[in-house]
This record gives sequence, structure tokens and C-alpha cells, in this order.
Amino acid sequence: MNSTFKTDVAIIGGGPGGAASAIFLAEKGLKSIIIEKEAFPRFHIGESMTGECGNLVRRLGLSEAMDQVPRTIKPGVIVYGKSGKNTFHIPVMRRNEAGELEQSFTWQVRRGEFDKMLLDKAQENGASILRGKAVKVLTDETGTPCGVQVRQEDGQLTDVLAEVLIDASGPATFLHTEGFTSERERGKYDRQIAIYTHVKGATRDEEDHTRIFYEMRNHWAWFIPIDEETVSIGVVTPSDYYRDSKEDLREFFLREIHKINPQLSLRVPDVSLVEEVRATSNYSYHIRNFTGKGFLCVGDSHRFIDPIFSFGLHFALTEGKMAADAIANYLLNGVGRDVENPFAEYERYCELGMDTIQDVLDCFWDQPTPFAFMVHSRYVDDFIDLFAGRVYQEDPSPGLQAIRKVNAKLREKLQPQH
Ligand SMILES: Cc1cc2nc3c(=O)[nH]c(=O)nc-3n(C[C@H](O)[C@H](O)[C@H](O)COP(=O)(O)OP(=O)(O)OC[C@H]3O[C@@H](n4cnc5c(N)ncnc54)[C@H](O)[C@@H]3O)c2cc1C
Repeated sequence: MNSTFKTDVAIIGGGPGGAASAIFLAEKGLKSIIIEKEAFPRFHIGESMTGECGNLVRRLGLSEAMDQVPRTIKPGVIVYGKSGKNTFHIPVMRRNEAGELEQSFTWQVRRGEFDKMLLDKAQENGASILRGKAVKVLTDETGTPCGVQVRQEDGQLTDVLAEVLIDASGPATFLHTEGFTSERERGKYDRQIAIYTHVKGATRDEEDHTRIFYEMRNHWAWFIPIDEETVSIGVVTPSDYYRDSKEDLREFFLREIHKINPQLSLRVPDVSLVEEVRATSNYSYHIRNFTGKGFLCVGDSHRFIDPIFSFGLHFALTEGKMAADAIANYLLNGVGRDVENPFAEYERYCELGMDTIQDVLDCFWDQPTPFAFMVHSRYVDDFIDLFAGRVYQEDPSPGLQAIRKVNAKLREKLQPQH
């Protein structure tokens, strides 16, 4: 017979989205079980945080713990245009209580250790961790999710019964594969491949900014210092371009980092690779209807747009917090008990933030020149806010409105004339 556990919330995935959800649920007095199939620490790409993501890490009480994991201080992001020209810089700044911008910083981290730190914190605060793979959603007589079945390493099946299911399974998109959400639509930045590793021996600058090197549309590289010696470097190109090269990942990576942009070549005269060269392709997707009675999705389990401006961790942590608020309102205050989807407002708010970033990225890729002008001349403060992750704008800032205007004009121009 299967063993059975009961809890308030079952969380599939112990990455940043799942761990943050558990920590914020514990603050509300709610119990959770996190189901995670991998042993931590495990390698994960995605090391650069936005300013607001850093603030959430502080809010979780982890500022001091950040000194114990491999990390660097990130004062901002620098984007180098084609051939190293038209560079722009966006500093990390926060809004103080008076609403004014003031200098701040965030972090760049090695994800293996960072993710483990978050998961340990969740456990310390009372969440249980169940090592195993979620394999099936359990439903009640009305078809509403009421738990999840887990296959543990020894093959044993365990049922975790819960009032609410959080899918934080990342790109595995568990609830989608189980048929509880809409289709997985290809994102606009699909058909791309990111090829990356960690290196030692790179030439470092005085300050450890996240640096982005532009070669041409959808062809770029990142340079993210993650500790005193190590830098994460990744090359992103259309998948066809990589396939046509007929090179293996390592050959391709080593050639491209010397070719993409002179500002990157300068920093990698002689580097040694300290991790295998890995690749992720087709990472851009959008799943709608990702909430319903008994379930909701957090982070990459419902949408990922494009890695260029480092919003993945930000969304995973922010949505973890918003999910905990929505679930606490539902379970403790009965909010949404009488409606078909108690988490509809959570879903709307998640999409509001992600749609903002979709618009920012579309403008950056489709119209780099007006974008650069708006960033460093016309709407400096608004762009500082957007890059920091202040993206849930019910009342869009003039900078965001300008982005949308520029995007709309281009769409109009590209529309077939009748
Ligand atoms: C090329 C690339 C570069 C990136 N760079 C950045 C960056 O610089 N900054 C940034 O903020 N973001 C970046 N990201 C995105 C970022 O890494 C992710 O958005 C972030 O990890 C999302 O967190 P998550 O918790 O939603 O998912 P994940 O971190 O993927 O965690 C999901 C967890 O669920 C577990 N899991 C999955 N299925 C099951 C199952 N059935 N049962 C049990 N466990 C399961 C997995 O083992 C995993 O641990 C990048 C992404 C890509 C593709």
C-alpha cells in the first residue's frame, strides 16, 4: 500500500520558486511539503539577480547567509552594443519610503549553493522535503487536484494530500504535462540555444557588473562574475546557427566568445573552463490558465520569456510570495471559496509583470536604437525601475508607455496592407 502524508500545501519542485513559496507560507502559519527529485546542491544556470530580487532575499532574512555562499556584488548591468559601441549602463537602485531612487546593489550567485540555501531555509522554517519525483496529480470526485503522487528513489509510491498544489517544477511544467493548464505556446524567443559554462582566468573589471554583449538580433553573450575567481559565460544564438557550425558545444563556445564582441574578447584572452559546457534550447514558452480550484503555478512552470535581462529568479521569488499571500487568504480567510477560480487574481497579477517584461524585451530586440535612447536619455528613472523588477505597473510609467507605443508602431508597419 502507498504511504500517505497530509499537509496544507504540496509544492512540486524545490528550486527558488518552490522554496520561496514554502518560506512565505510558513510565515503565515501554513504547512507545506516540497517534493524535489534532485539532490541539492545541483548545477543550475541563472546567476544574476535583479534589484528587487535582492530585496526579496533580504526580506527572507538571508542577507547574512549570502556572505556564506559563492557570490559577488552586482551594482548594475552594462550592455555593449555591436562592435562594443553604443554601450548603456543601468545601475541597481531602489525606491525609498519617499519614493525616491537611491543607490543599492544586488547579487550574482552560484546557483547550486544559493538554491540549497533557500531550500535549507524552507526546511528550517518548518517545510518538509520529500525526495522523489512527482508523477501524478491526485484529484477528488469533482476532478479538483487534492494532492500528488510521488515516486521516491527506492521506487516506493507516496501520496501527498493537500488543500492546494503549487507547481514550481520549472521548465518541466508538471501541471501542464498533467493536463491542468492550457497548451504550452512557443514563446517569441524560442528556437534559440544558450551554450554556457563557468570559467577561471577571465579579465575582471573593478566592479562586478553583469555584462551583456550584443552581436546581432538574438545573438549575444553574458559575463556574470559569481565569486572571486569564477565567471559564468554564456553564448546565445539561433539554434540553426549552432547546428550549421557542425561544432560540438565546447568548440562552438570557445570560438564564439572570441568573436561575438570585442568587449567580450578583451575579457577572455586565456580562460580555463571549470564546468562542462552545457546547453539549453527552446526555453521560451507561455502557458495560460495556470491557476484553478486547488492549484496554481509559480515561476518557470508557467512562463519563461528570455534570459537576457535576468528576470527568472525575480519572478520565481516574487510569485512565491504572491502565491503564499493568495493561498493564505483562501485557506485562512475563505477568500475565493465561492468562486470557480480562487487564484484568478494571482494569475492576472503574474501576467501583468511578465507582459511588461515581454514588452521591454520586444522593444530591445526589435528596435535597439530607440530602446538605447530611451534608456540613457529619455526615461532614465523609468528604465531603472523596469530593470530592477518594478514591473507590476497597473498604471504604466511614461517609459513603459513609450515602449508600448514604439512596439505598436512597428506592429502596424509590419501588418499586411489590404
Ligand atoms: C540560459 C538561461 C540563463 C538564465 N540566466 C538567468 C539569470 O542570469 N538570472 C535569472 O534570474 N534567471 C536566469 N535564468 C532563469 C532562471 O534560472 C529560472 O527562471 C529560475 O531557476 C526559475 O526558478 P523555478 O524555481 O521556477 O524553477 P527551477 O529553478 O528550474 O526549479 C524547478 C525544480 O523542480 C524540480 N522538479 C521538476 N520536475 C519535478 C518533478 N516532477 N518532481 C519533483 N521535482 C521536480 C527540479 O529538479 C528543480 O529543482 C536563465 C535561464 C536560462 C534558460
